[in-house]
Formats: sequence, structure tokens, C-alpha cells
Amino acid sequence: MTKLIRSWVESANAPDTDFPLNNLPYGVFSAGGSDPRCGVAIGDRILDAARMEADGLLECGGALQTGGWNAFMARGKPAWAKLRDALTKMLTEGSDRQDALRGYLVYQAEATLHMPFSVTEYTDFYAGRHHAFNVGTMFRGPDNALPPNWLHIPIGYNGRASSVVVSGTPVIRPNGQLKGPDDAMPRFGPSQRFDIELEIGAIVGQPSDGPIAVAEAFDNIFGYVLLNDWSARDIQAWEYQPLGPFQSKATATTISPWIVTAAALEPFRTSTPEREKPLLPYLAEPGPMLYDIALEVGLTPEGGVETVVSRTNYREMYYSAAQQLAHHSSSGCPMRVGDLLGSGTISGPTKDSRGSLLELSWGGKEPLTLEGGEIRGFVEDHDMLALRGAAMGDGYRVGFGSCTGEVLPARAVKG
Ligand code: MN
Repeated sequence: MTKLIRSWVESANAPDTDFPLNNLPYGVFSAGGSDPRCGVAIGDRILDAARMEADGLLECGGALQTGGWNAFMARGKPAWAKLRDALTKMLTEGSDRQDALRGYLVYQAEATLHMPFSVTEYTDFYAGRHHAFNVGTMFRGPDNALPPNWLHIPIGYNGRASSVVVSGTPVIRPNGQLKGPDDAMPRFGPSQRFDIELEIGAIVGQPSDGPIAVAEAFDNIFGYVLLNDWSARDIQAWEYQPLGPFQSKATATTISPWIVTAAALEPFRTSTPEREKPLLPYLAEPGPMLYDIALEVGLTPEGGVETVVSRTNYREMYYSAAQQLAHHSSSGCPMRVGDLLGSGTISGPTKDSRGSLLELSWGGKEPLTLEGGEIRGFVEDHDMLALRGAAMGDGYRVGFGSCTGEVLPARAVKG
């Protein structure tokens, strides 16, 4: 386990900051009326990387002038390492660049955060063993909980890049076709079973135009974000056969505003769980490619206090993002810079480590009691949902910031 790298930005040395010098996550911010621009989180500040590049203090070929990190990702791994190395040197305690850099620091509290990159395409997986078992048990019973393909294929579906929004964006409860088991006909109206899914999103940073091996897939991943795959369970239950989720997952997908790079997570690599059935060789991991990232979900009702409703860890995934990306490319599917891959809901083995309300409330049958006494089966209007995550080092944490969204009432149904 590596130690905290001390910075002359004093707030970056606090044990509870998400953004020590070991992290250096990439985001897009605006402050004081500026256009959205590339920045790097350090302690309670943001380093204005775009202006530093414009002033000749960083060399990224103009990639930081684009209002997003796609152009920088496209420059490739040596460029990724070069920028991280330069920033680390300049921000380390005792650096002679301290006076030159002070004018490039902005308080996070005074900044607005935007989408850190342009999402090229979005794919979401179903790769958490406990989640798949829990949901399968509810839908089909424990004997048929896992579909026969599940232990062989990282199952996924193609989502909508247009639906991905940055943390803090309100989410409007969807309307959709609903049909309960006892209803003769479907009706159209607001989802009554609107839910979250606690996930981590992997960002593809290098293109590929044919099948790639798991090791190459791992190298092509630029970084990770927290991801909330908002899901309307009642719409999903009616629409999902035979082609999988469609409108139930198309309302919104919220991501955290900071891209935590694969480089920052390197000390926290861990293996996927033991295989229950041998994988085909093209999916075998040549080494540990998952990460140990502690995760939690907070729910705050309107005017109330937050209850942490789940605590789990990314290491619960059965398939790593590298395996998912390798599988995604296996048909020849081209992958692009800025492709976002959702991990699938991350649930642990215990009841309090489940990553969706569907599982936490067991389909609404065992509602949760929140601090303050309100009960929840699913998300109510004006609930604020917050995902948080951090890899825990020795005296420091490599954190993701928070990934929040408030649910607003559904639009009026016309006609
Ligand atoms: Mn999902």
C-alpha cells in the first residue's frame, strides 16, 4: 500500500479528503462566468489545467482547450502518464512551482462542475453475482435465479449516451407503460417503482476496431466514475422480454463529476472472485484487474436527514471492466474514446450491502425505515440519492466525490 504523497495544497493532506495528491482526478468546471474548462481536483481546490496549458505550463497538444477530456484521452497512455507525472511534481510539498501555480487554483465551493467528457456510447452490464442472484430470485425463484449464460458471459445491453448526466442534475420520474400481473391491460403513467443502481462506470480511453484481449482492454481504460443507473422497475418488468431493458433505463444515468484515473487506482487492484465455472480463454484475466473501492448509497427525503441505505465494494463484481470491454469487442464491435461501460449493480452478500432499492426492499415487500421514521420501498419524489466511493489507502483515500440526483415529479400525461 502506497503512502500519502504530501502536497503544498494543505487541504489535500487531510485524511478525509477525496482528492489527495495520490488521486488527481480530471473534471470540467466553470467559475466566475468562465466557459466549462478542464481541471484537476486537489484537496478543496481545482487546478485550472486548461489555463495552465494555454499559458505554457503544461503540454498536451491543445487537448485541454476543448472543454472535455476526450481529446486528451485520445492522445494515449504515454501522454496520460506524462501529465500525471508533471502534475504530481508541481503539486508535491517543496515544489519550486508553488508560487507560479497559486493563481491557477480555484475553490471547489465556488465552481460548477460539468460532464467531464462527452459520452460517445453507453453500455450497461449485469455483472454483479449477488445482484443477478437477488433479482433472478425475485423474478424466477432461487432455482432459476441465474440465467444459464450468466457464469459464462458478461451480459449487457446498449444504453443511451444521450441519457448520461452529471451529478447534481435533477431526474424527472419517468412515465411509461405499466402492467401489473393482475391487470388486464397496460396503462400509461408515472413509474411507481423508480429505483437506483449503484455502479461504477469505466471510460474507454483508446479506440479498438476488432477483438482485443483482456490485458489490452485493461490498458485501454482511462478511468472510472461512480454511476447511478436510474431504473423504473415496473416499466422494466413489462417491457424486458425478449430484448432486455429499453425505456425503463433511458430516463437518466448519473455519473460523478471527476474521472478517477486507472493510474490513481493502481495500488488498489484486486482479483475477481473465484470462478464458479471456467471461463472461455478469451475472457481469462491475466492478473488482478478489479479494484478494492468502498461504496455507499445515501438517501435523503425532502427536508429530512440522510440515511446510508447500503455499503458495499466494487470487488464484489464477478466480471471486471477489462473482461467486459474484451467481451464487448469480441464480435468486432468497434470501441471508441469516450465509450462508457456501466459495471452492473454492485451488491454484496448481505442485506445491507445491496446496491438497489429493489433488492434492499425485496421488491417493495420489506420497506426500509429511514432515520426520522419514513419508510421506502422505492424512490419518492424529492428524494435525494447520493452514491459515494473511495479506495482506502494508509492515511488517505482516493475518492470519487459524490454522485447525486434529486427525483422530481413526473411530467403530466397528455391525452
Ligand atoms: Mn444497470
